[in-house]
Amino acid sequence: MDFGKHFSTRRSAQREPIPGEDMVKNNAGGFGFQVDCWTQLERFLILGSECGTYYVGERALTVENAENVIKCLREDGPRTLKTIVDISQAGRAPKNDPALFALALCAGMGDEATRRLTFEVLPQVARIGTHLLRFTEFMKNFRGWGRAARRGVGNWFLEKEPEQLGYQFMKYAQRGGWSLRDLLRLSHPQAQTETQNALFKYIVSGEESELLPAQLLGAREITPAMALTAEGRARTIALITEHKLPREAIPNVFFDRPEIWEALLESMPMTAMIRNLGKMTDVGLIKPMSDAAKTVIERLGDEGRLQKARVHPINVLTALLTYQNGSGYKGKLTWNAVPQVVDALDGAFYGAFKFVEPTGKRILIGLDVSGSMGCPVNGIPFLDCRTAAAAMCMVTARTEANWHIMAFTNKFVKLNISPRQRLDDVVRTTDGLVFGATDCSLPMTWALKQKMPVDAFVIYTDNETWFGPIHPVQALNEYRQKMGIPARMLVNAMTATEFSIGARSGKGYGTIYRGIPNAVTDPNDSGMMDVAGLDSAAPKVMADFIRG
Ligand code: CA
Repeated sequence: MDFGKHFSTRRSAQREPIPGEDMVKNNAGGFGFQVDCWTQLERFLILGSECGTYYVGERALTVENAENVIKCLREDGPRTLKTIVDISQAGRAPKNDPALFALALCAGMGDEATRRLTFEVLPQVARIGTHLLRFTEFMKNFRGWGRAARRGVGNWFLEKEPEQLGYQFMKYAQRGGWSLRDLLRLSHPQAQTETQNALFKYIVSGEESELLPAQLLGAREITPAMALTAEGRARTIALITEHKLPREAIPNVFFDRPEIWEALLESMPMTAMIRNLGKMTDVGLIKPMSDAAKTVIERLGDEGRLQKARVHPINVLTALLTYQNGSGYKGKLTWNAVPQVVDALDGAFYGAFKFVEPTGKRILIGLDVSGSMGCPVNGIPFLDCRTAAAAMCMVTARTEANWHIMAFTNKFVKLNISPRQRLDDVVRTTDGLVFGATDCSLPMTWALKQKMPVDAFVIYTDNETWFGPIHPVQALNEYRQKMGIPARMLVNAMTATEFSIGARSGKGYGTIYRGIPNAVTDPNDSGMMDVAGLDSAAPKVMADFIRG
């Protein structure tokens, strides 16, 4: 009898844990490692829990992640806050809502010092009016309006310059069940200057004053009736231009007029511009050869501008898919997309990532295209995990010289994508694939069979691997031993669960480097890393890790 057939640490079926390893059963019934609470916190902040996953509903995934935030708070309150602030401020997540939710949890569930610190960092996460309104909406589930909450929210109003606050009030007077007026009333901050006093009074009771910011006074002058006459429209355009008014300051009746949009475009913030491309094309402002098209294309090509506005690549990707599709998500508008604008959005996707320096290493990108990867990403329109992963791996393909992309389920899947392709094309190619069960060990076993030298395996997956005679970490081990290459493995999580196919197991797989020339000798360096798949800093983090 061959005992090893039934019990081996080097080769064991994914339906069972590796003998001697601390593993947990994932949602697909396979065994994987559990990431620590800090890795899961990062995943939640970047990937969110809206729409759940293929296996777990939105509610269960949200509860799991909220409980994880509380676990982090018990371990280290300030570190929890720092993680939230860092990810939010760097614009690493497509949505700020998970950060605001986690922050609200800190405000209610942290110890006293953490709760106090939460309100100190509030303006760094709740940077604009709509963020503050979301935060207070979340907060009401965890605590009331005690003194700390009143002072914290009050400080948010006090810290803003009058012009800034006036602008926020114009743009985000109300969201959900809350208005900035409610919050100002509730927090009741003591105005420090006469201007501030006038502005607070205006927000609370609409009382006019000459001390109000000029922009606010300019916006006050515009009425819906002015849309009816040429004179009124000309005056509106002059006011928009003079005061750099945002779209929210203009009544809806103006919005079928290209000249109004032309005036708004001049000082339109990047995110608003990207969101309104369809509308501006629909009204005839953006068309081939137009000045507006030129302006839009120039701005989309400006990386500094994209970074400063914290434009997230995933939001550019959905804008691209929506725009080239020629109709909005809700299907109200239709337009003829200008190809050059689509191309500019394609370029902006890459420009919105943190700068990546090529590693020069040999990189095999493994794209999990199994059935469960067809699940939507954090409630983002037009996007499932599979297409998001395909787009993300294009960044590596564009940056590096030595790479190969393979798609896999429980078998190898042929995937014809190239970094020269536009993203909508890549998405179409990925959409047409046949899906199956998940075996995340395939990139390693496949490369070994091909005798392909690989320095780093970069895998995009939901970590729900279950099909196959060998675990991914064992397959990586075998690859390292037989090829004599201390290959690294990077796992891009596409869902915010607690599972990992190769997180550090505590014992560390560092030992496997022994006897391999040029091996990494740090026993704590497992040569494996977990990254949140939609992180705008992921390609940079991965490149640094691959470089060593
Ligand atoms: Ca799967």
